[in-house]
Amino acid sequence: MAFELPPLPFDKDALEPHMSARTLEFHHGKHHKKYVDKLNELVKGTKFAKMDLTEVIRETAGSAAHKNIFNNAAQTWNHTFFWNCLSPEGGGKPDAKFAKHIDDSFGSYDKFVTAFKEAAAFRFGSGWVWLATKGDKLEIVSMPNAGNPLTDGRTCLLTCDVWEHAYYLDYQNRREDFVGAFLEHLVNWNYVIEQWETERKAA
Ligand code: MN
Repeated sequence: MAFELPPLPFDKDALEPHMSARTLEFHHGKHHKKYVDKLNELVKGTKFAKMDLTEVIRETAGSAAHKNIFNNAAQTWNHTFFWNCLSPEGGGKPDAKFAKHIDDSFGSYDKFVTAFKEAAAFRFGSGWVWLATKGDKLEIVSMPNAGNPLTDGRTCLLTCDVWEHAYYLDYQNRREDFVGAFLEHLVNWNYVIEQWETERKAA
């Protein structure tokens, strides 16, 4: 079965004014769709066509021969994950139980925000900023291009797409404002906590 572009988990205009319907039309309808289409084209008739998406990512990570497949597979996965990390009722501090994990790992929620923003600003060119976990500790991991912490044994909890296409129509060159709005208004903590609890149960 071919890889599919999942629908957005909210209406296209639900995240306005922080992320516009026009941005989502392009970002989901054009960019994300293109990664999925390209991936299907690349894996056609290969062993990768029968794998699930995370398997394709793990199998092709770091392989020069399969770089193109890795990039499109990871971008397919990363974008689906990113949409799930957004909510019209999102942003701000997580509830007390998870806030404690943030405090334990970063010192405080404010320090987490500062570190996340710094990681986004520091990422030169295109990439992703992740909140991920390895063992008990939460970490902020910034990765270039299609990078995904799954490939180094981490579990992904939250991500922010810092490719220019994620924010250019709404914020032009102001990545910092986009990341600020993401943290303040869009982060779907319920989804983050679900990922965390699923990982805890599996551990
Ligand atoms: Mn993107």
